[in-house]
Amino acid sequence: MTSYDTVLANGRVIDPETYMDGIFHVGIKDGTIAEISREPLEGRDVVDVSGLIVSPGFIDLHAHGQNIASNRMQAFDGLTTALELEAGLLPVGEFYDNCAAEGRPINYGISAGWLAARTVTLNPEKAVNGKPVPTMTFTMGNFDVQEWVENPAHGDELQQIIDLLEQGLKEGAIGIGFAWGYAPGAGLKECREIWKLAKKYGRPTYTHIQNLSMLDPNSGVRNVIELIGLAGATGAQTHICHWNSTSLRDIPTIVDIVKNAQEAGLPVTTEAYVYGAGNSGIGAAEFDPSDVEDRMAIEWSDFTLV
Ligand SMILES: [Zn+2]
Repeated sequence: MTSYDTVLANGRVIDPETYMDGIFHVGIKDGTIAEISREPLEGRDVVDVSGLIVSPGFIDLHAHGQNIASNRMQAFDGLTTALELEAGLLPVGEFYDNCAAEGRPINYGISAGWLAARTVTLNPEKAVNGKPVPTMTFTMGNFDVQEWVENPAHGDELQQIIDLLEQGLKEGAIGIGFAWGYAPGAGLKECREIWKLAKKYGRPTYTHIQNLSMLDPNSGVRNVIELIGLAGATGAQTHICHWNSTSLRDIPTIVDIVKNAQEAGLPVTTEAYVYGAGNSGIGAAEFDPSDVEDRMAIEWSDFTLV
């Protein structure tokens, strides 16, 4: 009988790709899964994992916690890869250098952060040593600044935003993080340039939709249709982040719209939280208190201040 380096014995083995789900023994040799068996296996180290799940490591596409403490918590949930794709960060190379210098218990990765590019372009006084800081603290710390949030960008400003994002892609960004709802002043002409850049590099855009609203004419439904339009108009892979929360009670409508777009062959994907609440920073544009109850069809008592 073959003897393995390590045997995980009696675990509930789940593989979502093949729908495997049952009690098995897993034999590992030279760092690779060599056998999955209903019968007990021999090994140098046999670990009894009865009562536990043995599965591929989870990849979280939407992990804003990019530090050692967050990564340790994510590992407890079975994550082996935590990606910050929605907001993204800049400079990308500096982020990767910082992670490598500090060490990380799981895999990590980011998109190029459009919010950061917009912040230092339209509010250059917020740059530190002439550039953004690759942390969510920097991004969220500027939610209260108006120009980069509310103003459209064109001409030299738009070119600078594109240049900063392109540099991020060259430094290994996994696409472009386009959290539109946090800078709703941006328009479709700016979007088109960014989608073209994503297409040029063959990497996706990741969007938090512009309108956290069920009210026409600026509803989330309108914005999802615009995003699908960008996918069709540029050919860039278009990922709609956490559609369960940003769709509000229009989720059946938006599911129908996205399904039809996918069936038409457009490069549109989405994701959902596995929990029933969301959070954000105070001062974020989409939580404008003057009409948030009407737009989201909720009451103030639905909010919790953490
Ligand atoms: Zn979001």
